[in-house]
Amino acid sequence: MTEPQPDLTTEPHNGPATEPPLEPMPTDWQRALAVVAHPDDLEYGCAAAVAGWTDAGREITYVLATRGEAGIDTLEPATCGPLREQEQRASAAVVGVSSVEFLDHKDGVIEYGLRLRRDIAAAIRRHRPELVITLNHRDTWGGVAWNTPDHVAVGRATLDAASDAGNRWIFPELADQGLEPWNGVRWVAVAGSAQPTHAVDATPGLERSVRSLLEHRTYIEALTDEDPETYCRTFLLGNAEATGRRFGGKPAVAFELFSR
Ligand SMILES: [Zn+2]
Repeated sequence: MTEPQPDLTTEPHNGPATEPPLEPMPTDWQRALAVVAHPDDLEYGCAAAVAGWTDAGREITYVLATRGEAGIDTLEPATCGPLREQEQRASAAVVGVSSVEFLDHKDGVIEYGLRLRRDIAAAIRRHRPELVITLNHRDTWGGVAWNTPDHVAVGRATLDAASDAGNRWIFPELADQGLEPWNGVRWVAVAGSAQPTHAVDATPGLERSVRSLLEHRTYIEALTDEDPETYCRTFLLGNAEATGRRFGGKPAVAFELFSR
């Protein structure tokens, strides 16, 4: 249930020449938790940043709300889910991420609400990140490119859960399970936002990000007739280069950064 994200920085009505430069992402942190709806959400751009971060010895954990079981028209969910889980674990490993968790919400019909907020707050308490990463929570990718309800629900719940995780009296059952409050999230960084504020140099991780997206082979082969590697490379390099026009000319991954 993921559509490739359009190139956000070359909208004709809002060209790069008029847009302000993106600020460098903070670097004074050690642990990050990335929370997204589907397998492949982090591979459509974010993984290049993740590769650079794990190179620097930072710890990143992936949490996926679903197993992407409704993502391939020709595969029954019962077959598709385990396959996409496997592909997600392989693609995470390419960029140095070994911890991948699934919250088992239902692909395509994720509901924004207390259950989702609680599950994400629990993950934040378990992993105690300083940086939380998620995917575009806004209605569109920019212009009239409509976002999916799963991305909106998970992005929004993640922004909310960054605070929920720190409050003992919200979801008190979590403390009963041994998950003490964690009020140490300093930023939530939203990838794929049409209103980015910050960026990371993608150069060191760019090649691995191509291989990371390529690990979603079953999904990509169902999505396009193009050669999978050409498809991944064209998409990721094109986006990184476009973002780079607002980041000193270096290929880059953009985020909208919410400080706490
Ligand atoms: Zn998705």
